[in-house]
This record gives sequence, C-alpha cells and structure tokens, in this order.
Amino acid sequence: MTIAKVEPLTTSRSLRGPFDYRLPSEMADLDVGSVLWVPFGRRRTLGVVVGLAEASDLPPERLAEPLEALGSGVPPELIRLGLWVAKEYCSTPARGLQLVLPPGTGASGQRVRPRTELRAEITAAGRSALEGGERLGARQRAALEALRAGEMSARELSTVGADRQVLRRLEARSLLSTRSVRLFRRSTHPSVGASGGRPQLIEEQMQAVARIVAALDADDGEPRELLLHGVTGSGKTEVYLAGVEAALAQGKGAIVLVPEIGLAPQAVARFRARLGDRFAVLHSALSPGERYDEWQRLRNGEASVCVGPRSAIFAPVRDLGLIIVDEEHEASYKQDSDPCYDARAVARQRATESGVTLVSGTATPRPESWLALPRVEMPHRIDGRVMPPVGVLDMCAADPRSGPLHPVTWGALEKVQRAGAKAIVMVNRRGFSPWLICRSCGRNWGCPRCDVSLIVHREAEALVCHHCAYFEPLPSACFDCGSTTLSQSGAGTEQLESLIMERLAPMPVFRLDSDTVSGHGAHARILAGFGEARSAVLVGTQMVAKGHDFPEVTLSAIIDADATLRFPDFRASERTFAMVAQLAGRSGRGKAGGEVLVQTLAPEESSIVHAARHDAAGFLEEEIERRRALHYPPFSHLVRVVLKAEAEDRVDEVAIKLADALSGALPKDTDLLGPAPMFRVRNRHRRRLLMKADRRDVTIAAVGETVERLASDRALRDVAISVDVDPQ
Ligand code: ADP
Ligand code: ZN
Ligand code: ZN
Repeated sequence: MTIAKVEPLTTSRSLRGPFDYRLPSEMADLDVGSVLWVPFGRRRTLGVVVGLAEASDLPPERLAEPLEALGSGVPPELIRLGLWVAKEYCSTPARGLQLVLPPGTGASGQRVRPRTELRAEITAAGRSALEGGERLGARQRAALEALRAGEMSARELSTVGADRQVLRRLEARSLLSTRSVRLFRRSTHPSVGASGGRPQLIEEQMQAVARIVAALDADDGEPRELLLHGVTGSGKTEVYLAGVEAALAQGKGAIVLVPEIGLAPQAVARFRARLGDRFAVLHSALSPGERYDEWQRLRNGEASVCVGPRSAIFAPVRDLGLIIVDEEHEASYKQDSDPCYDARAVARQRATESGVTLVSGTATPRPESWLALPRVEMPHRIDGRVMPPVGVLDMCAADPRSGPLHPVTWGALEKVQRAGAKAIVMVNRRGFSPWLICRSCGRNWGCPRCDVSLIVHREAEALVCHHCAYFEPLPSACFDCGSTTLSQSGAGTEQLESLIMERLAPMPVFRLDSDTVSGHGAHARILAGFGEARSAVLVGTQMVAKGHDFPEVTLSAIIDADATLRFPDFRASERTFAMVAQLAGRSGRGKAGGEVLVQTLAPEESSIVHAARHDAAGFLEEEIERRRALHYPPFSHLVRVVLKAEAEDRVDEVAIKLADALSGALPKDTDLLGPAPMFRVRNRHRRRLLMKADRRDVTIAAVGETVERLASDRALRDVAISVDVDPQ
C-alpha cells in the first residue's frame, strides 16, 4: 500500500499536517509535489504531497483516498524549499508551499487552464479529392484549397468560411487530419533600446566570467558563491549574460533575480533579446494565463532561464546551475507579508541544497555579503570613464528662502540646459509637499485612520495618506480658525517638477514616481521619452536611481539625501549609502563626463562622506564595526513580532501576554525588546516586540511555537499577530 503524506492548503494556523491518504492503484505513480483534491472532514480541499510512505500509523480503514490529481506537479526539491521557507520565516506549511505551486493553483484562486489550438492539415486523399473533382461543398472546397499551401489553425480557416463543423466533416471523410497543439501565452513588453548584440568583453569582465565558470565547474562540496562588486557602469549585466550562456552551454538552467521587473526594463529586454526562446519571465504584471504558461515552459524544459523579481527564486527551472541576484542590496528582495521571506536567503538555501552557483552583484554590497562572500571586483567603468565628482551641499547653511534646490544645484541645472545635455533629480518623496499647516493656529492635517500627516498632491488637488490611500479635497481655509493662510512645507517630486519646469522652460521635464507609473507600461514610456529627448530633466523618487543607462546624463542631484537617515532603523546608513551611490552612478556614463550633487542636512554622516568618494569599501568597514559594537546583524539575528488591533487596550493586553510567554520560551542569550508602540495604520493600533538573537534556529522555533499557541486561541482573535524574521 502506498501512503501519501498530504499538506492541506488551508489558511488556518492551527491545523497540523501532513495527513495520511491511501493512494488507489490508478494514482500509484504520484510523486512528491503532486497537487491533489482530497476529502478533508466534511469538505474537500487542495493538498500537496510532501512525502510518500509504505505504512501509516493509522489503520487502513481510517484512511481516505484522494479524489483527483491535478495536472502538473511541483519538483520535489521545490517542495522542500517551500517547507524550508515556512519554517525559517515562522509561517505555515500551506503558505510556504503556495510559493512553489504552479501559478493559479490555490485554495482561493480560480484555476488557469492550458490553452490549445486546433490545427488542420490536408491529406493525400484531400489533394486528390480537389483535383479529381469529387463532390465538395463550397466551404469544404475553400478549406481544402487554403490548406494546399500548408497547415493552418482552425481560427485561420474560419476566415475562409470553414467552421469547426466543416472541418469535422472533412476529417470524417479523411480529407484532412487535425491535431490539438498546446499554445503558450507570452507577453510582449515595450523594450527600451535592447539589441541582441554581443560586445567584446573587457579584461575585468572576462576575469569575472572566468570566476563564475570556475564556480560552475567546482567539485561537489566546494563553495560556489561569489559577490560581484562592480561599480555602476562597470558592465555587470554583460557578465551575468555570459555566465548564463556558460551555464546553458553545460546544459544547465539559470535564474536571474532583479529587484522589480518594472524598474529594470532595459536589463530584462537585454536578456530577452540575447536568449530568445530559452528565456522566460515570471512576475505579477503578467496575466494569470501568461504566468501559468511561462511556468509550464520552464517546468517542461522548453525555457531554461527565468528572469523575475523575488518570487522567481521559486521558478521550476530544470537542472538549475546558476542563480544571479542583481542589485543584491535592494530591499525589495524581502517580502513584507507572510511568509516574510528574503529571496537572497532562499537563493542561498536553494543553491546549497542543489549545488548551484550563486552570484550576487551590486555596486553597494550589504555588510552581510561583504563579510561572508569571496569577492570579484570590477572597480572601473567600461571605456575607462572616471566616476563623476560628487559635491556635497550643506542645506543647514543654505538660505531657506532659496527653496528646496540649492543655488549651486540651480547653476548646475542651467549649465546642463546650455550644453543641451540631460539631468536626473531625485527626491525620495512623492507628491507636492509633505505637510499642510495653518499659519494662524498651527493646525496640521493628519490622516484620520493613521498617525501620519497627509501629503499635498496638487495635480490631484487632494491631501493623500501614503499609508492607506485615504484622501480628501485640498482645503482652501483652515477647518479650525477659518484662516486662508495655509502653508505647505517640504518638497516632493511634484513640486520639484513644477519648479524646474518653470525656471528651465522650454526644456522638457519627465517625472517618475509611483503616481506617474501606475498605468500599464507607463514606466517604460517615461524612460523612453527621457531617453529620446534631446535635452531633458528626469525628476523622481528612488526609481530614477535604478538600473537604467543614459549616456547623455551629465548631472545627477539628490535632494534631502539624509531623509532616510531619520528613520529609526539600524539599516538607515546602509540605505542612504546605497541610494546616494546608485544615483551617483547614473551620471557621467557618456563621453561628456558628469557630476553629482548631494543636498543634505548631515554632510558629515559616514554614509554620505563615503558615497561622495565612491568608497564602498571604506563605508562598509566603518559600518561593519558599528554593527559589531551594537550587536546588530550580521552579528546577531533579529526577529520582529507585530500585533495589530482596533482596540488599543486589547493590543496592549495581548502584547504584554505575548512578551511574558516569550521571555519564558526564548533562550537566555536572546534579548527581548518591547512591547513598543508603532504608529497607527488603517485604524489599527500596533505594538512591536523585537528579539536580538545569537542562536537563530532555537529563537525562530521558540517564537514560532509561542505565536502559534496565542494565534490559535479563539479568545485572542481580535488581535492579529505577525512574525518577521530578519526584518528590513
Ligand atoms: P552596470 O550594471 O555594472 O551598472 P551595465 O551592465 O549597465 O553596467 O553596463 C554599462 C554600459 O556599458 C551599458 O550600456 C552596456 O551596454 C555597456 N557595456 C557593457 N559591457 C561592454 C563592453 N564589453 N563593451 C562595450 N560596452 C559595454
Ligand atoms: Zn487655523
Ligand atoms: Zn492613512
């Protein structure tokens, strides 16, 4: 007898699988990874086979049989990976497994069906029927005539008047034959200047590729991880491509992770152009059908390279040989909802399990990677262009009446205009200005549902909450005192756009932020517009600092560079360094050279000083020492628990209860901080507990068990508890 161990895909935290089912003989060939409908209590549910056994602890008559097996299962190694994620991030097996299932399989999601097409071909009998003047209806004759030139689809044949019935009749008379062909839906994306051309690699690139090839060829058990530390513009993408081609030449597949597909249209287009049909892409902007088909193409080996954002780490690539994590410093590799997995950690797990080479590339490595990984350096830009000089502008000393842009920045923008070149201006805040204040009584406008101020959006003539999307019309007078002297302070992307447009007219100004890129393909269109313009300015949020390559840009400026430093977060410095260095990397990529200006209130801060010198190593050394002294990652592990509830007293009560339970359960060397208040979002009061641990696994297990016990207590159902391991 074969027993399948099935994990049901339920959302409940309290059910503990897997459960045993008896396989009937017609399901005897099912494997780990098969997806099944199974009877479950009085309902039926989808489940995943996570193991097979010959016997069960339960007597055979107590075991039910599965009802039905779904088409394509998941490779067993991905089942193990999904379960690993569940455990590593304190989630449930069902949620971990959901990540590795074919798109569209789910307890809630409707199923996606494969698409097929009927194709018809004329037979020898059909040809002689046409020539021999056999009796044929007009539409039958038209169909056969058309088919003389070659095979056609039923849809094409309908244009000559031959519908399905006509084809069936002809087939019954053996005058044609039909077959059903599987169609794969593929999306086409606007591509930004991509060619399949293959430049001659420079020496540094060749050495980097050689290191990747050596890792691919390494013996089992030898390390296969590399950090590719290449300055912006050093040609990392070409190295990735050559690495992928080397893997393909060995008959192996590859996964290329990019931070966000929408932000990397140029890189994705280059992969597509070079790899043709071997290329597949998986991301959430595809239709369900497209996603399902791309997944199937990878599963059946038709495509062997998958490019995509963090979720692509779960792609069913066959004979995986290489994983590349582009821009490994990007925070978007961490998922912010349960399971809060980090795709970089999942990549490491998958690579270690399956003997896969893992290459993490960036100009601004994380301290974790810098300490742990062997490095390949590419310190020079392609063509030997120098890194642009960076000027730091101290805004404390600037005249506040001159507005959000420093006079030096204005001067540099005007120079760009005179030279007919291009500039990028970044401010990490969308909207017109972040505060609306009444000058008579001091009233300020906050979100009624969140403890944050509302942002002025002039274009939409509204005040908008950036945490819950609440909005109200822009007021013309104070609600409290009736005064009409309302002042807007601080500047966002909208304001910079309008200031620059006014002063530098008629120079075109493009704005790139999440408000302007909401439409389909809008992001690529804006970048293409900026790329094609003769001389222009691109204004936007962090999006403008990412991934693209415009050689005509001679100035990049960052406004309020230290805004990120004001977050109470131990990664604030790391973020600021990466942001300034990445933006600096957008300038001076062409023959005309370039410069960078950094406006800041904290000109002495280590991240800004080092970014201004393009000195990643210097920054990392200081930052790593600081982390060591403060016992922060990578010298410890953090686990955060957030509690949310509508009633403030309830969230306090449960937070204290959880803190008590945790202090009993955690190992002695784990620090427990909190409960601490967090600001309210969407009418939910929030509290936070933070653990700093030396021993990762025991801490995660203790937190997981304690939270699970509380979360399954019905009396506490009004309080939502979520766990984030390695919070960002
Ligand atoms: P990075 O990702 O390191 O910032 P890119 O991969 O975007 O750099 O490369 C920067 C520019 O250099 C791109 O326009 C790319 O096409 C070009 N490039 C890369 N390698 C070569 C090469 N060997 N010869 C000529 N141009 C190259
Ligand atoms: Zn007022
Ligand atoms: Zn809000």
